[in-house]
Amino acid sequence: MTTPMMQQYKSIKSQAPDAILFFRLGDFYEMFGEDARTAAPILEIALTGRDSGGGERIPMCGVPHHAVDGYLLKLVSAGYKVALCEQVEDPQAAKGIVRREIIRIISPGTLTDSLVEQANNFLAAVYHEQDWGLAFVDVSTGEFTVFQTESLDILTTELSRIRPSELLLPAELLKAKHWRPYYLTQREKKTYQHTLLEQRFTEQTELFQEFPVAMKAANGLWQYILETSPGIDPSHILKVNAYRPEHWMLLDPWTRRNLELTESIRGQGKKGTLLSVLDFTKTAFGGRLLRRWIEQPLLLKGEIEKRLDYVEALVEDSFLRGDLIQLFNKVFDLERLMGKVSYGTANARDLLSLAQTLGVLPQLRALLAEGKSEPLQAFIPALEGLDPLAATLEQAINPEAPISVKDGNLLKAGYSKEIDELRSISSGGKAWVAKLESMEKDRTGIRSLKVGYNKVFGYYIEVTHANSHLIPAEYIRKQTLANAERFITPELKEYEQKILGAEEKVTQLEYQLFLELREKVRQHAAKILEAAHALAEIDVYTSLAEAAVRHHYSRPVMKGEGGLTIIEGRHPVVESMLQDTSFVPNDTILTEDKHLALITGPNMAGKSTYMRQVALIVLMAQIGSFVPAQQATIPIADHIFTRVGASDDLASGQSTFMVEMYEVAHILRHVTPHSLIILDEVGRGTATYDGLSIAWAVAEYLAGQENKPKTLFATHYHELTDLEETHAGIFNLHVGVREHGEEIVFLHKIIPGRADRSYGIQVAKLAGLPANLLHRAKIILHELESSAKESRQEHLLDKEKTTQLSLFEVQPLDPLLQEVSELSVEDLTPRQALDYLFDLKERI
Ligand code: ADP
Repeated sequence: MTTPMMQQYKSIKSQAPDAILFFRLGDFYEMFGEDARTAAPILEIALTGRDSGGGERIPMCGVPHHAVDGYLLKLVSAGYKVALCEQVEDPQAAKGIVRREIIRIISPGTLTDSLVEQANNFLAAVYHEQDWGLAFVDVSTGEFTVFQTESLDILTTELSRIRPSELLLPAELLKAKHWRPYYLTQREKKTYQHTLLEQRFTEQTELFQEFPVAMKAANGLWQYILETSPGIDPSHILKVNAYRPEHWMLLDPWTRRNLELTESIRGQGKKGTLLSVLDFTKTAFGGRLLRRWIEQPLLLKGEIEKRLDYVEALVEDSFLRGDLIQLFNKVFDLERLMGKVSYGTANARDLLSLAQTLGVLPQLRALLAEGKSEPLQAFIPALEGLDPLAATLEQAINPEAPISVKDGNLLKAGYSKEIDELRSISSGGKAWVAKLESMEKDRTGIRSLKVGYNKVFGYYIEVTHANSHLIPAEYIRKQTLANAERFITPELKEYEQKILGAEEKVTQLEYQLFLELREKVRQHAAKILEAAHALAEIDVYTSLAEAAVRHHYSRPVMKGEGGLTIIEGRHPVVESMLQDTSFVPNDTILTEDKHLALITGPNMAGKSTYMRQVALIVLMAQIGSFVPAQQATIPIADHIFTRVGASDDLASGQSTFMVEMYEVAHILRHVTPHSLIILDEVGRGTATYDGLSIAWAVAEYLAGQENKPKTLFATHYHELTDLEETHAGIFNLHVGVREHGEEIVFLHKIIPGRADRSYGIQVAKLAGLPANLLHRAKIILHELESSAKESRQEHLLDKEKTTQLSLFEVQPLDPLLQEVSELSVEDLTPRQALDYLFDLKERI
C-alpha cells in the first residue's frame, strides 16, 4: 500500500524517467529513491528516509525552494537533468491531494540562469538523411540557426565552433565517435518529423524546401524545447536563421585553436587571444556577437565593406565613440531578459533592468542623429517605438522591489488606484493599532500594557499578571504566558481584518498587475529583440573602432582576388604583450606568381609569429576590423588553413605525427585558389628523411597546383630552399639574425632569401644547456655537416638527371631483377617455372 502522495509522485516520475525529479512539497523540493541517492552527495545535503506507506521507507533528501537555482546548477553541471515539479493549485483550495505538474526540465542545453554572460549556451540537434542537418538554439537569448551540408567533416567543424552544451541525436547516430566531446541526449526519430515548427514559423516555409534535412533537425530541437518547458511559448525565438556557407568562412577547429581566436592554447581563457585585444564591448550581447564574428569571418565583399564603413565612422568620431561607450555601460542583457520574460521567470527587478535599458534608447537615437557618422544613422529605426513601454515600466515598478514576485511591494504608488486605496486602508489600520496602545494605557492605567502581533493570534493586547486586577471587563482572554496574559477586543479584531484583508488583497493584486506588465513586455518581444540586435552591433562596431584607435590599426583595402600586400604588419596579440613598442613590423607580399614563401631561420627568430600575423590580419579584415599594419590590401580568403606546431591529441589516442598528417591531408583536400595556408614545420613529427621528403612533396604539391593558394611555409629543412630554383611560384624568406662571435641576436626582421645556418646550438645556449654538452653538440654537428656536404656534392653532380620529384635517387635495376620483373609468369607451365628457378640460382 503506498500513500496517495507517493502514487502521485510515481506517476509524475514516470513522465521524466531520465531526470532527477524535484518534487515540490510546501517550502521544499524533495527527491526520493534513486534520485535522492544520486543527488545528496552532489548537493552535499543529508540523505534521510520517508515512510512511503505500508511501513516501507524510501531514501529522501530535499532543498529549500528559495535556493533552488544553485542546486539546479550543481546537478546540471554534474551532467544530470532535473525535472522541476510544482504544486499547480492553491493547497488551501485543493480537495484531497494538491495537483502537481512538471513545469520545466532543465538540462545543460536548456539552462537559462547562471550562464556565462559573454558566451552563448547552445542546445543542438543533428539529423542525417543523405545530407547532414544541424540546428542549434540558445534558449536564453532566442537565437535559432539551421545549417545543412553534404559533408560530415563540415558538420563536425561547425559543431566544434558552437560547442553545444547538449546535443540531441536519434538512436542510430548515437554510437559514432564524432559526438564524443558533447553531452548527448538520445531522441526518438519521430520527434524530428513533427510539424509544430512549420506551424509556428509560417513565414519561413521556404526553408523547409531549401534545407529539408536541417529543418528536420530543427523540428527535433523545437519538439525538445516544448517538451522541456510545457505550456510555455518561447516567444523570444523570433525566427529561424539559415546559415549559408557561401557567406561565412569555415574555420577548422585546429585553425581556430592555433590562431588563438577566442581561447588561448594554454587554456588561460580569453587572455592572449585575438578577442582580448579587440574586445571593448560593454554589453553582454555585444560581447557574444563579437566572439561570433571572430569565429565566423565574412566572405562577401559588400558585407565586409559595410562593417568597415561603420568602424571607420566611429574611428573618426571620437566624441560619439566616447558617448556610446558611456551609454552602453547602462545597458543590461536584453536578450537574456527577454528569455526570462518568455519563460515566465523574470521578476520585478528584471523588468526594471529592461526599463532602464529601453530608457537609454532615446539618448542613443539622439547621439546617432547628431553624430557625424551617417552610416550609423541606419540603426535609428530599430531603436524606435519602445519609449511608451519604457515609460509604463518606469512608472509601474518599485525600484526597491524584492526578488520574489509573490510578496508584494512590486509596484510604485500612483500606478494603480485600487492598490493605493488598499494600501492606505492597511496603513490607516496599522496607525490606529499603534495609537491603541497609548489610548488603552490611559484608559486602564496599566503602564506596561503592550499591543503586539503574531501569526497565530493576530493582533493582541498584552498585560502582565501583576496588573490583572486592572483588566477591563470587555477584554477577551486568548492566551496565558508565564508572566503575562494576552487579550483581544472586538474592535481590535475588526481593524485587524481590515489590515490583513487589505494586505492580502494588495499582494494578490500586485502580482496580477505585474503579470499583466510582463505579458505586455512579452508582446513587444520582436521589437525589443530588434533593438537588442541593433545595440549589439553598434556595441561591436564601437569596440572595433576603439581597438583600432588604441592599437593604431588601419583600414584594409579589400579585393575579390589578386595579390596580398601587407606593409609593416604586426601581430596584434604579441604586440600587445610587449609593453614597449619593440615589436618589429614586417611586410608580406604574395602575388599570383610568387605565392608560396618558404621561411627559414633559427628557432625563436619569429617565424611562427610572422605567419600567424598574416593569418590574423586577413581574418581581422574579414570580420570588418581595422588591421595592425601601416597598409594592407587583402584579397578575400575563402579559407584560412593552419598547420602549426606539434600538438598531441592525446584524448583521441593519436600520435603527434598522425595528427599532423591528418591536418595536412585536410588542407590539401580542401584548398582552393583563394585559400591562405600557414604551414609551420611540416614533417617535424617523424624521422628526419621521412619528414624532409614529406615537407618537400607538400611544398611541391602546393606550388604545382593550378590554383596557386597563398602559402607561408616555415621549415627547418634548409634543403627545401633549393625549390626556389625549380619552381616559379616558390620564393625564399628568412628571419634576420645578428651574430656577435658565438652569440646571436634575434632581429625579428623578415628578409628575402634563405637562411644560411640554423643556429640551433646558439639557441640551446640561450636556453641554458650545460657548456660541456654544447661543446659535444658542436663536434657532432661539424661531423654531420661535413658528411652531408659530400653527399650534397654528389647530389648536385646528378642534378641533370634528377627530375623535380627525385629527392631519392632511383638506382638502375640489376639485370637479373630486370629480367624477373619482365617475366610473364602466367605464360609458364609449372615445369618451365621450376627450370627457370634452377637456372636463376645458377646465375646468381
Ligand atoms: P619561431 O617560430 O621562429 O621559433 P616565434 O615566432 O615563436 O619564433 O617567436 C619567438 C618570440 O620572439 C615570440 O614569442 C616573441 O616574443 C618574439 N618575436 C617574434 N616576432 C617578433 C617581432 N616581429 N617583434 C618583436 N618580437 C618578436
